[in-house]
Amino acid sequence: MTTVAAYAAPAAKAPLERTTIERRAVREFDVLIDIEFAGICHSDIHQAQEGWGKAIFPMVPGHEIAGVVSEVGPGVTKYQVGDRVGVGCMVDSCRVCENCLKGLEQYCLDGNTGTYNAIGRDGEPTYGGYSQKVVVDENFVVRIPDGIPLDVAAPLLCAGITTYSPLRHWNAGPGKKVAVVGFGGLGHLGVKIAHALGAEVTVLSQSLRKQDDGLKLGADHYYATSDPKTFEELRGTFDLILSTVSAPLDLGAFLSLLRTDGALVNVGAPEEPVSLNLFSVIGGRKTLAGSGIGGIQETQEMLDFCAEHGIGAEIELISASEINEAYDRVQSSDVRYRFVIDTATI
Ligand SMILES: [Zn+2]
Ligand SMILES: [Zn+2]
Repeated sequence: MTTVAAYAAPAAKAPLERTTIERRAVREFDVLIDIEFAGICHSDIHQAQEGWGKAIFPMVPGHEIAGVVSEVGPGVTKYQVGDRVGVGCMVDSCRVCENCLKGLEQYCLDGNTGTYNAIGRDGEPTYGGYSQKVVVDENFVVRIPDGIPLDVAAPLLCAGITTYSPLRHWNAGPGKKVAVVGFGGLGHLGVKIAHALGAEVTVLSQSLRKQDDGLKLGADHYYATSDPKTFEELRGTFDLILSTVSAPLDLGAFLSLLRTDGALVNVGAPEEPVSLNLFSVIGGRKTLAGSGIGGIQETQEMLDFCAEHGIGAEIELISASEINEAYDRVQSSDVRYRFVIDTATI
C-alpha cells in the first residue's frame, strides 16, 4: 500500500478538502500511474452532491486522468515505465459477459466498476483522479499519443469518448448534418470531433454568447435555442442531434429538428425524469436514444483519432485549492471549457 495525497468530499454536498488515501500495492496485471492532470467533469459534481443517488464517502472524484506509468506488475505486457497513459470512467468490469467480450465494457451486464464512488471487485472502494497516484489494471488503461499534451488530453477520457462514441455509432461524417446541443465541456469536444469526422456541424446553445468560439472550434452554424425562430428555421434539418446538457430539455421541440429517421441522442443526464409526447417520434420514424462513454478499445481509437486531427480539450488549468470554486463555476456554466487540475498542487 502507498499513502498518497488527494482531494476528497468528506460527505455529500461538503466542500472538497485535502486528505490522504491508500493505493493498493501493484498486483500482477496492474500499473501504477503518477497522475499529472485530472479533469473536472460535471458528473463529479452530481456525484459529490448525491444528485444521482446514494454515494460513497469520503469521495475522491475524477475520471479524466492523464499521467505517466511509474511501476508495472510482473504480468503487464502493454505498458512500460515512462509511458503516457490515461484512465477514464471505469477501472474494471466482469470481462466475460456478452458486452465485455464485444468491447462494450461500459455496458457490462454485471456493471462496470467506476473509477470512483464504486466498490471494486476486490471489495475495496475506488478513488478517482484528484490524487497524485492511481493503481489500475492494464486492461483499463489507454495510451495517450505523443501528439496530445497531457493537460488537454485529460478531458478526452470522459468528455471526449462520451461524444466520440455516439458520433461514430450514428455515423456522423461527410454529408451528415449534426447538431450539438450545449456548448460546454462535452459540447465543445463534440463539435471538434464531429467536424473532424467530416459532418456539417451546428451548435444549439441557449445564447449566442460563445458563438465566436463555436465557429472557431469547428462549427459551421451556431443558433440560440432561447430564440423561438431557431426552431422554425431548423425544423426537419438534422440527421443526428447530440444533446450534452444535463438540464431537462423540451425533447419534443428538439425532435422536431430531425429529418425522417434522424436520432436525438442524450449523453447529458438530468437528475429528474423527463416527459415526452410520443407523437414526437412516431411522425418521421425518429429515434430517441442515449449513450454512455465508450469501451476501452474505442477510447483508444478516440485518442488516436484526436492525435491525428490535433484535437485536445480547451481547458482552464487550476491548482487543487481552486477545486471548490471551480465546482461553483461549472454549475453556473462559467468555464471555457473544462477545468483541469494540475495534480502536482495537491
Ligand atoms: Zn465524466
Ligand atoms: Zn461484463
